[in-house]
Amino acid sequence: MNRRDLLKNMSAFPVLGAFAGTAKLLPFTGEPVKAPLTGKDYFKDLGIRTFINAAGTYTFMTGSLMRPEVLSAIQYASKEYVMLDELHDKVGQRIADLLHCEYATVTSGAASAITLASAGILTGMDEKKVPLLPFLEANGMKTEAIMQNAHRIDYAHAIQNTGLKIIYIDTKEELENAISEKTALMYFLNANNFDGKIQVEEFQQIAKKHNIPTIIDCAADVPPVDNLFRYTKMGYDIVCFSGGKGLRGPQSAGLMLGNKKIIQAARLSTPPRGNTIGRGYKVNKEEVLGMLVALETYLNTDHDKEWKLWESQIKLIGDAAETVSGVVTEVKVPAIANHIPTLHVSWDPKKIPATAADIKEKLRSGTPSIEVAGGTGDHAISITTWMLIPGQEKIVAAQLKKVLSNG
Ligand SMILES: *Cc1c(COP(=O)(O)O)cnc(C)c1O
Repeated sequence: MNRRDLLKNMSAFPVLGAFAGTAKLLPFTGEPVKAPLTGKDYFKDLGIRTFINAAGTYTFMTGSLMRPEVLSAIQYASKEYVMLDELHDKVGQRIADLLHCEYATVTSGAASAITLASAGILTGMDEKKVPLLPFLEANGMKTEAIMQNAHRIDYAHAIQNTGLKIIYIDTKEELENAISEKTALMYFLNANNFDGKIQVEEFQQIAKKHNIPTIIDCAADVPPVDNLFRYTKMGYDIVCFSGGKGLRGPQSAGLMLGNKKIIQAARLSTPPRGNTIGRGYKVNKEEVLGMLVALETYLNTDHDKEWKLWESQIKLIGDAAETVSGVVTEVKVPAIANHIPTLHVSWDPKKIPATAADIKEKLRSGTPSIEVAGGTGDHAISITTWMLIPGQEKIVAAQLKKVLSNG
């Protein structure tokens, strides 16, 4: 089947968005995208490659596509002035009501939420302390944050932006010993829950016993939707989500949920205020509103229907790949973080000599260009469909089959 046939076939699938329940997904037409006002194809004019994202929500691939509801809210907001603090106050309260937590605020991402929450914990509502960050010791503030070695992650740098030093521990005993007068907070990386010796509930309980505030990083942890409620309920003071991953809000937005006092204190380090470590974490009004609407849209999504759509797309692609001799596929769902059906495709190098890098390059240089994710080893890749525009799974299936057959 050539590309033209493919596109023709796809137009026989009317509005595939209908599968996605109330959260309408854009139907894929195969037509080049043009700017509505100018009719320009900006990326093409700039020589920038666009591609089908069969990989997932990767920052280097610009995350996720915002839903039409979010884009409409962004357009709406762009036509009025509002007071930035009032916008944050009211949107934060609305998000808290939706997620049954004490308070919330929109940040410029999960990492920003971690830095700002740390700042709020350090300064409290003392405005004199806000400009003193990140010089903690000289100004009599607490200086340490504690996390498990098994939770080491680059993004924990967000804690250090405030001047806090991270103390790494492994066991419960080490944790209890590490807690001191200097301890400002304890950080938990939810994605690594099962890798550490101390799991999510116990970690929070130990912190509570010692009266230490807790931050949990749940950046990539929807689906399931329940996670938006679960960790504030569990007692974590601050819960952080990315806005531009599963929630499909603005890529430079995120959510900070939880303790009202800490979030209000964190806001002292955010714009419009300038003499703060958070001045660079501005969120424009369009994205503040867009984040709220992305959340509302996500909460209204028929998650079971969406899951079934992903499963059927994964099956289509997996079946196509398996028609090639030497190819094996398996569907796995990560327990936490990127908890979505993920297709692992691997092949026998005796039958298909191409390496994973070769296959990825062939998919990338095809028409249309396709990005997939790495697999385990040199002869494996992985694919997710949740970032596809419905209809694109047919192209991915056909192209994957083609490059594996020629491999
Ligand atoms: C993506 C991610 C972040 C960063 O999130 P942003 O919203 O891009 O700031 C932090 N922690 C984890 C675990 C992530 O997956």
